[in-house]
Amino acid sequence: MIALKTKSELELMRVAGRISAQALALGGEMVKPGVTTAQIDHAINKFIKSQNAIPSFLGYGGFPASACISVNDTVIHGIPGTREIMPGDIVSIDVGAIYKGYHGDNAATFAAGEISEEAALLIERTRASFYKGMEQAVPGARVGDVSNAVQSYVESFGYGVVRDFVGHGVGRDMHEAPEVPNFGKPGRGPRLAAGMTIAIEPMINIGAYAVKILSDGWTVLTADGSLSAHHENTVAVTDNGPVILTKV
Ligand code: MG
Repeated sequence: MIALKTKSELELMRVAGRISAQALALGGEMVKPGVTTAQIDHAINKFIKSQNAIPSFLGYGGFPASACISVNDTVIHGIPGTREIMPGDIVSIDVGAIYKGYHGDNAATFAAGEISEEAALLIERTRASFYKGMEQAVPGARVGDVSNAVQSYVESFGYGVVRDFVGHGVGRDMHEAPEVPNFGKPGRGPRLAAGMTIAIEPMINIGAYAVKILSDGWTVLTADGSLSAHHENTVAVTDNGPVILTKV
């Protein structure tokens, strides 16, 4: 079953979304050579708590930090630690916050100093693919319309769309129905309705779509070592079109 949120629930999700978006922006500003991923995570944790919210990821399935920080060929679920960011790195930060029982969830990829042109294009196109998908998230459309819009856009550049991890409904739980894959056929999958809230989150590799998981059980890497980018927002499906709830 897909939960429909009431107006007042959407207002709470807007607050959770704002806190999540501000935490993401704060993390993004810290992406600089010499900074460790743990330093970014600590700042994000402190900020979320200062907003009377709870970091969604901390302890989720045993995850040991408040943000997933994924560098270069790490796709998602990077565990913050002593790794120092290097010039030219691309750094994906994924962070969520719970406010009064409701989740916000968002992610973006940031550049550390000067990055290669291919890396910059990957980040820009991954971000653009989120909007291609979001445009389809209207009442009456199908999840497959969102999925296909993301896939057809990024595959036109020869990129790989990660298949093993997908977007999701979000609300009282961080992961709710429906699943929102970044690949699929238009006209297929669950039908969207006003009041649904979904996290659309393309994870895009410069190379092939295959990924592997490190022995820590979390860190997801591209199988071919190519760079990967991520862009995510929590989106409400409304009669007036899609609305991003994770806004600063
Ligand atoms: Mg998510």
